[in-house]
Amino acid sequence: MAENPFFAPSSLPYRLPPFDEIREEHYLPAFERGMAEHLAEVEAIAGSDEPPTFDNTIAALERSGRILDRTATVFFSVAASNTSDTLMEIEKRVSPELTRHSDAIRLNRALWARIKRVTTDDPEQAWLLEKYREDFIRAGADLTEPEQERLRGLNEELSRLSTEFSQNLLKASTESALVVDDAAELDGLDEAAIRSLEKDGRYVLPLLNITNQPALAQLTDRDVRRRLFELSVGRAPVNFGLAVRMATLRAERAALLGFPDHASYVVADQTAKTVAAVEEMLGQLVGPAVRNAKAEAEALAGQAGFPIEPWDWSYYAEKVRRARYDFDADAMRPYFELGRVFRDGVFEAATRLYGVTFTERPDLSGYHEDVRVFEVFDEDGSALGLFLLDPYARPGKRGGAWMNNLVDQSFLFGEKPVVMNNLNITKPTEGPTLLSYDEVNTAFHEFGHALHGLFSAVRFPRVSGTSVPRDFVEYPSQVNEMWVTWPEILASYARHHETGEPMPAELVEKLKAAERFNQGFRTVEYLAATLLDWAWHRLAPGQEVTDAEAFEQAALEAAGIAFPPVPPRYRTSYFMHIFSGGYSAGYYSYIWSEVLDAESVEWFKENGGLKRANGDHFRRELLSRGGSVDPLASFRAFRGREPGIGPLLERRGLI
Ligand SMILES: [Zn+2]
Repeated sequence: MAENPFFAPSSLPYRLPPFDEIREEHYLPAFERGMAEHLAEVEAIAGSDEPPTFDNTIAALERSGRILDRTATVFFSVAASNTSDTLMEIEKRVSPELTRHSDAIRLNRALWARIKRVTTDDPEQAWLLEKYREDFIRAGADLTEPEQERLRGLNEELSRLSTEFSQNLLKASTESALVVDDAAELDGLDEAAIRSLEKDGRYVLPLLNITNQPALAQLTDRDVRRRLFELSVGRAPVNFGLAVRMATLRAERAALLGFPDHASYVVADQTAKTVAAVEEMLGQLVGPAVRNAKAEAEALAGQAGFPIEPWDWSYYAEKVRRARYDFDADAMRPYFELGRVFRDGVFEAATRLYGVTFTERPDLSGYHEDVRVFEVFDEDGSALGLFLLDPYARPGKRGGAWMNNLVDQSFLFGEKPVVMNNLNITKPTEGPTLLSYDEVNTAFHEFGHALHGLFSAVRFPRVSGTSVPRDFVEYPSQVNEMWVTWPEILASYARHHETGEPMPAELVEKLKAAERFNQGFRTVEYLAATLLDWAWHRLAPGQEVTDAEAFEQAALEAAGIAFPPVPPRYRTSYFMHIFSGGYSAGYYSYIWSEVLDAESVEWFKENGGLKRANGDHFRRELLSRGGSVDPLASFRAFRGREPGIGPLLERRGLI
């Protein structure tokens, strides 16, 4: 049998993983050897007789765990994009092992003692050293043995509760589904949709995991809308108890780690840093958002002839949107052909801004025949890295779109980046792949992450590319969306797939006009969820909550965001992001990133837009830095000032 391909570095260009050689049976042995080798390396670092230096401790840690790193990178990439029963089994088995593995390193006292003694005068080293210290302290390295024991217990219970929370929700989406006997009650939905809901002579509309069910925009029967809405906000009541328990445990864990509450713990290593900074930003948004939502509610009431209830909002908003903006999103599709969107849109914008060029490498392959590989060159012709594109939906691929790295750029290993974008576009059985406007936008967004990875020019893998705080990482990708409708770029890629004619200007104008519509609603439902997340995670240790629903209502009122026609995007009992998705005290990140995004878009516009000099400035100050410097310092170096909220309010039409 051939040697396991994970045991040695790849011999392919850019160390692209050798997907042709990797078999499912290679993963487990590679994980096992990878973890064992990594632990042995860490033991050797921790047990060294030499005085601790940056090189023999921090850089040595950066150099350790190569087999594990290669294996995990490929495994989790394939498990997300092209999984199988076997891979799912492996994932279930290795996930807890990886958690224990990382605890074994971060709670290693000898190692921690050495890290604390390392000093350095080099700024990039000093920044990395600080990251290591933060990581270890946040994982509990400074605690006594009994405290670490308690911490492990808390982590274990929290992880169990979080699984329970999401399983309850999965059940609730069908258990709380809207069931009607008569298809006439579903009037407004299209006929094919209604047919697909039929089960045993009745009609079952399952809940999506969001308050405002999309069907509310179409259902003409007001009472059916009310029932659907009430099912939506009333689902999984059992989760209120779990949420209280989790919030309480998180507060206790924060206290153990020396923080006043969980939110303070979470933001300490984010760009926000303090709860005060987050609260100041949210506080500035609440007033304008609620004012706008109230004005929108009045306009809708005028249309409806009665005061708007939450189950009426989307229905009347849709009526107003059609009347006022009259555009058919499907009319755009023939102008958005996948290959052309990338070549003449996504890539073209990058060429005009940064001078980079793309050459397809059909000789290199991914884990699936639909994956395309491109080599990326700098303006002077030097090689920059590889970009892999996996555009299509398939069984075994998770929903949504994302970017991931297959090889992290670092000078330490002399490795160039290999980055990947995954989209979920339906593959046509024949003919060209035509995208929706949202899919085009997503393609530019994900490629913004890809550029962040490709332009990385840092020494250490730990801080390579997109290894930046969660409240910062969406910022460069959001900025890249600005080129979707930039006139020269749009004219370049949005051409009819048969005739080659450019997209009619009025379609674009209608689209831009419609984008500002209903922003009061969207901002309030988002902020209400954010402030709910915040309230749960500002609980003081030991503070008791007896009635979760009353707590929820009081939190919204205290924050000034309670406006009954626009409920939070998620209520506590189905707020997956924060109780089962790693975003606790982090839901604010989306709008925090958007503040920086709006500031940056404004900078590009002030400075002449799509120009090489502008691209170079953004690349030099921001994209190339990865997480190797304070992210807000790179923002300031790029923008020339502190971020302010004005451009965001302007963009959302909230002024
Ligand atoms: Zn993103």
